[in-house]
Amino acid sequence: MSPMQNPIQAILFDLDDTLIDWSGRQGTYFSSMIPHLDNMLDHLEAGGHALTDREGFKTTLGETLVSHWSEAKVTLQAVDFRRVVQDTCRAHYLDTSRIDLMELLHAYDNKAIPGVDLFPDTIAVLDELRDRGYKLGLITNSMLPMWMRDAELRAYDLLDYFPVRLSSGDAGYIKPHPQIYHAALDQMDVRPAQAVFVGDRPGNDIAGANAAGLTSVLLTPPHLNYELNGVTPDHIIGTLSDLLPVLTALERTTEKNDV
Ligand SMILES: [Mg+2]
Repeated sequence: MSPMQNPIQAILFDLDDTLIDWSGRQGTYFSSMIPHLDNMLDHLEAGGHALTDREGFKTTLGETLVSHWSEAKVTLQAVDFRRVVQDTCRAHYLDTSRIDLMELLHAYDNKAIPGVDLFPDTIAVLDELRDRGYKLGLITNSMLPMWMRDAELRAYDLLDYFPVRLSSGDAGYIKPHPQIYHAALDQMDVRPAQAVFVGDRPGNDIAGANAAGLTSVLLTPPHLNYELNGVTPDHIIGTLSDLLPVLTALERTTEKNDV
């Protein structure tokens, strides 16, 4: 390696409560899904499917989510919204052979969640990182396929910053499983030691980044108060802007080691 080459080539981010701020969200995540589930049910009814119990369908879907997530927390195998929807349709005796799942997910029409917004410094920090020449990527523990979450990224003008984006629903594993980090790094053609991961949850973001061999940075927004529970981040920052001096210091440390 050339002594002048910055060994940190890539910055990977978590999405929720790292790039976007969920502190203003009203209600539960499930309650924010309801209008979109209604869109799906309208689509099914328009396709001639007999839905005798729309409320029951939504309740079953909510219960299926809880059960799949409980399993995922043990196995670290991802929850896949497509499977959740299929299982719910079967439980309500819908003929899944006549349901085009892709069309149904498009009918869901995922959007940015009311009350969720960018942190004030997100765009400025991403601009600076891009100017410094870092490759940027995003890994989210989301059951939705990434193309569905892209609607949110587009709404916040984040989409163009992240050529590499992985949702756990697509990758098959959730953080902290190292596989999802390595899958993103492979797409970026970067080794773990050349990458920094920034996230808000010690137990999955940071534990996973440490296990996968990345430099870990814990973001601690004021509305969150997660216990470290024995997890040791390499760095802790209060705002995204604090990442910039951390990276500058990492570059300096390496220059010193290279001499
Ligand atoms: Mg998060």
